[in-house]
Amino acid sequence: MTAHRITVAGVAVDTRHWIGGARVASAATFTDVSPVDGAALGEIARGTATEAEAAVAAAQEAFPGWAATPRAERARILHAIADGVEKRIEDLAIVETTDNGALLRSHRRGVMPRVAHNFRFFADWLLTLEHEDFETRGHTNHVSWDPAGPCVLITPWNAPLMLATWKIAPALAAGNTVVLKPAEWTPLTASLLADIAHEAGLPAGVFNIVQGYGAEAGSALVAHPDVRRISFTGSVPTAKTIAAAAAAHLVPTSFELGGKSPLLVFGDADLDLAVDLAVEQYDNAGQVCLAATRLLVESSVAEEFTRRFIAKAARLRQGDPRDEATDIGPNIHPRQLEKIDGFVRRALAAGARAVIGGHREDGQYYAPTLLTDVAQDSEIVQEEVFGPVLTLQTFDTEEEAVRLANDTRFGLAATVATGDQERAERVTGQLVAGTVWVNCFFVRDLQAPFGGSRESGVGREGGTWSFDFYCDLKNTVTSP
Ligand code: NAD
Repeated sequence: MTAHRITVAGVAVDTRHWIGGARVASAATFTDVSPVDGAALGEIARGTATEAEAAVAAAQEAFPGWAATPRAERARILHAIADGVEKRIEDLAIVETTDNGALLRSHRRGVMPRVAHNFRFFADWLLTLEHEDFETRGHTNHVSWDPAGPCVLITPWNAPLMLATWKIAPALAAGNTVVLKPAEWTPLTASLLADIAHEAGLPAGVFNIVQGYGAEAGSALVAHPDVRRISFTGSVPTAKTIAAAAAAHLVPTSFELGGKSPLLVFGDADLDLAVDLAVEQYDNAGQVCLAATRLLVESSVAEEFTRRFIAKAARLRQGDPRDEATDIGPNIHPRQLEKIDGFVRRALAAGARAVIGGHREDGQYYAPTLLTDVAQDSEIVQEEVFGPVLTLQTFDTEEEAVRLANDTRFGLAATVATGDQERAERVTGQLVAGTVWVNCFFVRDLQAPFGGSRESGVGREGGTWSFDFYCDLKNTVTSP
């Protein structure tokens, strides 16, 4: 192995940027550390404005050729990328688990097959995109979906390749070129994707990666005047910084941000189902933007719900994410663990009671936690923790449930557990959220719009909504 290639769980990964169809090193590097055992995995190229400039220039140069490539050929190459992902599912799964600590079994059987699906779905959707021509006083209106240009995509660490490919696939399908900046805590699978895309025949410069920190590589990319779209998934404060940079050149932005989603459990709900849904919120060690971290339970069933919740949560196995039997892996980084613990300690000091958990475990683990006796306006109820920490509040009426559910500055998702269909319709109609699940959770179809209201995001991704964002729509009016 050269200095630029590391071996991660037996898989060779290039640690350099991928710009204009070539690997590019940087003078400076940063250390990528595994949350699984704290081992240093390698030194990753640390991009600056120089690499950002080179990557946008490469994307700009490749744009006319890719934009002019017939849709069917673009779709064929995206399917070839999906084939490549499918061939390397095991490699991608173990590298992602080593890099971000999420469960190997879910990477293997859920996430990585979905990564391939992301490419297939948007390749196929591209071929269906049309708008019926229509007439105006004898003139024909023809709407076309023109590619926009180089797109900068910035992604977080909690589901690195999944979230990146939700953006990469539609951006490329639409005929745009891309510069991706992966999160600095999880740079590895993006690098493998560059190899896969190259082998699939994606032309040089169509897909580029700049590794590095947000404040260095990321901020240089989003400030670049030649960028035509910025799509970002991450935290609210970063989105505000990016929005300001994008405003300088009036670049359209798509933001998928944080949340503080509620799970409303009504007295008429199937209580076992409601408890299953609640315990599921500890998935990925609570590092899920959509997680329903606020349990709102009708007073009449709160005691029984809590009893069953404790019993079910006690069966969760926390441990090595590579072990098939593990349900909850480590949290991503010591800094994240410190943040989680800070939230819980402040909540306890303010009078909250830990029904379960409320403390760190050995290593980079946090005990699954349920807090009660929390005030609606308290930090723990209002702020996103991004760890395995849930709060439980009770309500007495439907009106109160809806009021509590909507009383945050977020609006990403909400889940309703009820046995009454009419109630479900009444309540979901009043909830402020981009996605509402009734008696289920985490069911996501790429045809559906996905995104957040209020501070949970700007815009929607999925199906035609993705193409709306990544295209410059043009109406051509022709006289008779
Ligand atoms: P973050 O905002 O700290 O970082 C996200 C990305 O932005 C990283 O790649 C980072 O390097 C980059 N970045 C940071 N500062 C930047 C700057 N000034 N300019 C350009 N790029 C910059 O978020 P995080 O901690 O990595 O991710 C967790 C957050 O992401 C949570 O709030 C979570 O809810 C949210 N999230 C949302 C969704 C969704 O779909 N809504 C999905 C997953 C995660």
